[in-house]
Amino acid sequence: MALAASLSATTACAPAAGESPAPWTITKAAQELVADPGLQARIFKALDAARSAGTDPGISKFHVRAATVIRHGGAERTILGGNSEYRVPEAIHGETSLMNHVITEVGPEEARREVGFIAFYGEACGGGGSCGDCRDYLLETTRWQDLLIVCGKAGDRTVHVDRFAKGIVPEDRFPEVPADGTGLTAAQLDELVQAALGARAGGIRLFTPPEDHLGVAVLTTAGKVYRAAGADDAAFHYRYPLGAALQQAATERDYFVRAVVVAGDPGRTPRLSYRDRQYGYEFSSFNRKRGLAPIRLIVLDGANGGARRYRATTFEDALPGAFSTADFMPEAVDKFLQTAPR
Ligand SMILES: [Zn+2]
Repeated sequence: MALAASLSATTACAPAAGESPAPWTITKAAQELVADPGLQARIFKALDAARSAGTDPGISKFHVRAATVIRHGGAERTILGGNSEYRVPEAIHGETSLMNHVITEVGPEEARREVGFIAFYGEACGGGGSCGDCRDYLLETTRWQDLLIVCGKAGDRTVHVDRFAKGIVPEDRFPEVPADGTGLTAAQLDELVQAALGARAGGIRLFTPPEDHLGVAVLTTAGKVYRAAGADDAAFHYRYPLGAALQQAATERDYFVRAVVVAGDPGRTPRLSYRDRQYGYEFSSFNRKRGLAPIRLIVLDGANGGARRYRATTFEDALPGAFSTADFMPEAVDKFLQTAPR
C-alpha cells in the first residue's frame, strides 16, 4: 500500500512494559463498514499485531506493516506481512507479503474465504490505495469484492476503513467513445491501432493465455510512436507491454505521452493489468507536472472482422487512489523533468 499509510511508523514510541496502549476508535465514516463488534475486535487485534511486523525498506525508509486476523480451526489466527526492498529499486510489498503468508499458513482456498480485511499500522492514513501490482495480486487471491482495507493511525489511534473494490475499475466500465471521441485524429488513431495490433503479433507467450496477451502503442507529445508486447519467462517475471513501451519512450527522453492504445484478443475487451495502469499513471503524473492533459488510455474493443469500437479513459480514472513518485518526491520529479526536452 500506501507508502504514506506507514510513513515512519518506526518513530512511534513503544509503550513501556505493562502499559496498555489507548484503545482504537473507528472513524465515523467507517462505522457502517465494520458494524459487527466481532469484526471490530479482530481489526483492533490485527492493528496491535501489525505494529511489530518486521520490515526492511532499505531504500525508501517507508515501513509498511500489515496484518490480518482470520478464523481457522475454531480459533483466531493473526498473520503478519511487511515490505522489503532491494537493489534498483525492487520491493516485496506489505499486502502481497501478508497474503503470501496467509496462503503459506492455511492454503489458497481458505485464504480466499477467510481474509476479510488487511490492516496497516502507520503514522498517516488516507495516503491512497495499493499499487497496481498489489491490486493484481489481491484480485487473484482474495474475495476482493468484500475485502476491507484498514489503516490504524498510530498517533491518535483512529481506524480508517475503505473497500478495496473502490480501487477496481473493470475495462468494460471504461466509457465507450466514437473514434472522434478519442481525442486523436483519424490518422493518429489508425497509426496507433495498427502499431498495437502489430505489436501483439510479437512478444513472448509461453505461459500467458491468449486473452491476456496485449500489444500496446504509445503516442508522445513529440509525435513519436513506441510499441511493445508482453513477454513472459520461466521465473514469472513478466515484462508488461505498456511498461515496456513507456520505457522505450523514456530511453529516448520522450517523457510526455498523449495517448496509449491497447489491443488484445480480437473480439474481446482487452484486460489491462493494474501494474501496467501504475506505469501509465506514473507517466501521466509527469504530464500533470508540466500542465499537460492527462494521458488518454484507449482500448480497442472488438475488431474481429467487425467495426472497431473504442473505450477511452485516463489512468487517473483507471487506477483510483493511485500514488506516484510525484506524490512522494515532488521536488525530485520537478528537477528530473527540467532536464527533459520540451
Ligand atoms: Zn504494492
